[in-house]
Amino acid sequence: MERTYLIKPHLRRDYPFVSYGRGVYLYDVAGKRYLDGCSGAVTANIGHGVEEIIHVMNEQAKKVAFVYRSQFTSEPAEKLADKLSQLAPGGEYGTFLVNSGSEATETAMKIAIQYWQEKGKMGKNKILSRWLSYHGITIGALSMSGHPTRRARFVPLLEDFPSICAPYCYRCPYHSTYPSCQLQCARELEQAIERIGAEHIAAFIAEPIIGAAGAAITPPDGYYEKIRDICNKYDILLIVDEVMTGLGRTGKMFAIEHWNVQPDLITLGKGLGAGYTPIAATLASKQVLEPIFEGSGVIMSGHTLSANPLSAATALAVLSYVETHRLPEKAAETGRYLFTQLTSFKKRFPWIGDIRGKGLLIGIEFAVPNAKGMLPSPLSFTELVVTKAQHLGLLVYPAAAGNGRDGAAIIIAPPLTITKEEVDELITLLKQTFLQLERELPI
Ligand code: PLP
Repeated sequence: MERTYLIKPHLRRDYPFVSYGRGVYLYDVAGKRYLDGCSGAVTANIGHGVEEIIHVMNEQAKKVAFVYRSQFTSEPAEKLADKLSQLAPGGEYGTFLVNSGSEATETAMKIAIQYWQEKGKMGKNKILSRWLSYHGITIGALSMSGHPTRRARFVPLLEDFPSICAPYCYRCPYHSTYPSCQLQCARELEQAIERIGAEHIAAFIAEPIIGAAGAAITPPDGYYEKIRDICNKYDILLIVDEVMTGLGRTGKMFAIEHWNVQPDLITLGKGLGAGYTPIAATLASKQVLEPIFEGSGVIMSGHTLSANPLSAATALAVLSYVETHRLPEKAAETGRYLFTQLTSFKKRFPWIGDIRGKGLLIGIEFAVPNAKGMLPSPLSFTELVVTKAQHLGLLVYPAAAGNGRDGAAIIIAPPLTITKEEVDELITLLKQTFLQLERELPI
């Protein structure tokens, strides 16, 4: 398979052919088993091959798989929106269905801008964000993303929205410590707003716990409360990007519920379809929707496959599974166990710099000194960890850290259904990976 016509992320790399998946395991066509320690891209939250979901998909496909959203609504799409409004943190939210996390954040950006337009404030159209963030790969979503390596090639096309530092205590951008820092990283938002002018700013967007760009960077308590206060003070909407953290991953249904904050817009993706179908959503609070409803009455966004009944029915079944099996609570409990086990690694492997996160979203940042240039660059060190682990039958997710160019990190985020015995196996495989790295590299 040296050359195929399928364009994959790395054109010169060989990928194993997957055969099937069951629970936390994936099997390739050669019969090799992989423990899915990162739910793919933090997506397969309920594990692979769940019969209940497949049954619902079958039944819905037999009824109707697709309708055009401008011609019909459907019971699954209506029920899904009702369910999300019940689950969302505080207040009522309307749901706009899309197909990927990038579309969800783009839609949030557009709704935020439209909200101010409907109120006659035409100039409020910038979306502030943080360095060390990832909100998606399309040009609008990438404009909001403070992910240096993913932005690099497209900088001429992008807006320079990332405007403040991340709440990155392990390598504090201000070289201070919490709590004596008095949350300087949150207060920076106020300085940015004063500099740019609130009259130009529609919203501030943030991942409650930073994923791909920061390997589960978790802010100190009080951070989001401060951010919310600043947004209120300057009349700026708060968009919380829960594409990676949403629907149980961090031990709460929504990660923002770890703090006492109500967002204006919320994005969901990954765990919503849990890998069974492409689906994502933008939730907008009643207060945000009201002026649009009273004004033009049209949301100026959408995609052909938005709100298709097959994906909506699938997501509804996934949500029901998450609730019935109490997966947020389970993620909190299993996460505590996994976190404790990983923390004990730090003594054995001094080149582990930091372990952080909540529930089953755990980041490991490596502190690998580039001894005499003998190590590959930090980013490829991440790739080395990921590749070695996969070779040993464990899947982990690569993440950026540091300033996005000089940090090496991975995310451990198995399906929320993982058992304690499977966590033990994950730990054993990770340990084998690290031991092998030590044998092969001057770390
Ligand atoms: N937002 C966050 C927080 C993400 O982690 C991602 C994907 O990793 C996205 C948005 C983009 O989602 P997608 O890859 O489905 O477009």
